[in-house]
Amino acid sequence: MAKYIGPVCKLCRREGEKLFLKGQRCFTAKCAIERKGYPPGEHGRDTRFRRRRVSDYQRQLRAKQKTRRVYGIREQQFRRYYRAALKRRGVTGENLLQILERRLDNVVYRLGFAESRAQARVLVTHGHFNVNGRRTDIPSMLVRAGDVIEVRDGSRKRKYFKELREIAEKHTPPRWMERDLEGLRGKILALPERQDIDANINEQLIIEFYSR
Ligand code: SF4
Repeated sequence: MAKYIGPVCKLCRREGEKLFLKGQRCFTAKCAIERKGYPPGEHGRDTRFRRRRVSDYQRQLRAKQKTRRVYGIREQQFRRYYRAALKRRGVTGENLLQILERRLDNVVYRLGFAESRAQARVLVTHGHFNVNGRRTDIPSMLVRAGDVIEVRDGSRKRKYFKELREIAEKHTPPRWMERDLEGLRGKILALPERQDIDANINEQLIIEFYSR
């Protein structure tokens, strides 16, 4: 499936809730959900369409699509994560969420070093971060407990990273990671558990979708 390059806010409107894909804008009155909180498209405002009975399949599909959109993952990759989650011990849905949370772009976002996962992805791809002292430019890399993620020395001179403290201060990292704002680095203390993942996701519906 090709990369989605259309309007990002449409994705939130389609899911009927804020997915926080655009950083600061999501917290302002400019947010499209605040301005037009109905689904996109010709019949978006038509209440007859909204009142229709929702099938189990639709609920499962929407849960899967929403999660993909929150983490910015393409279908093929998402399905691969599902298969990997299935092979691991434990609850498949929780395994899946843990894999998504462990992605390097998500970790950079959770540390507050980017305003959105999309921005974190660009920063990682441009090689601004070291993981355990080695330059890494793969957003899908999965971090492990004990890994140290830091802004590279060469990147610290850049305006964005000089002003980063201001952005990062507004953001509290989850308890499975520790942040050193002065040193622009973070450490993974443990792998995330279900209660650490605050996204409004019903992982059981995703599993049902793929196991049809
Ligand atoms: Fe979604 Fe953010 Fe756009 Fe609002 S501003 S619709 S939360 S991406």
